[in-house]
Amino acid sequence: MVAQWTPAYVAIGSNLDDPQAQVQRTFDALSKVTGSRLIARSRLFRTRPLGPQDQPDFVNAAAGMLTTLSARAFLLELQQIERLMGKQAPTQRWGARRIDLDLIVFGDQSHDEPDLQVPHPGVSSRNFVLYPLLDIAPALSIPGQGRVHELAQRVSGDGIAPLLAT
Ligand code: AMP
Repeated sequence: MVAQWTPAYVAIGSNLDDPQAQVQRTFDALSKVTGSRLIARSRLFRTRPLGPQDQPDFVNAAAGMLTTLSARAFLLELQQIERLMGKQAPTQRWGARRIDLDLIVFGDQSHDEPDLQVPHPGVSSRNFVLYPLLDIAPALSIPGQGRVHELAQRVSGDGIAPLLAT
C-alpha cells in the first residue's frame, strides 16, 4: 500500500533548564519520529509567560512535519518525547515547564476529545504559537479558524521577539 503522508504542525515551548537547548533537543527528537519527516523548523522566539509572571520567559518554536501515523499515534510520539526529555507536570496551571509539545494542526482533520483536540484550541489567540508558524507556514489554513498569516495579524506582538541565531 502506498503511504499516506499527512502534514502535522507542532508547537514547542520551554522555560526551564536551558530552554534554547531544550527546543533544539526537541527538533532532534522530532527528526527521528517513526514514519515521519521533519520538514521545517521555525526560528526560536522569546516570549513572556502567559498566566503567572513569576517564572522565566519561554522559548517557543514550531515544527512542520509529514507523517504516515494517525493523529493519535503521532500525539503519542510527542508525549513520548516529552517523557524522555523529563517533562514533569507543572505545579500550577500555566506554570513553568521544561518542555511542552502541542499538536496544532493535523492535515485537515478535526478531533474533539479530551485527550486529542485538533486543531489545538486557543491557537488563534496565541502569538507564541502563531509567530513561529508564520515562519514556516504562513498560508497554512487552520481548520475552522483561518490562515496563519491572517490570524497572526490579529494578535498583539507584545512580549514576543525572535532570538538571534548564535
Ligand atoms: P499539557 O501537558 O498541558 O500539554 O496537556 C497534555 C494533555 O492534553 C494530554 O492529556 C493530551 O492528551 C491532551 N491534548 C489534547 N489535545 C492535544 C493536542 N492537540 N496536543 C497536545 N496535547 C493534547
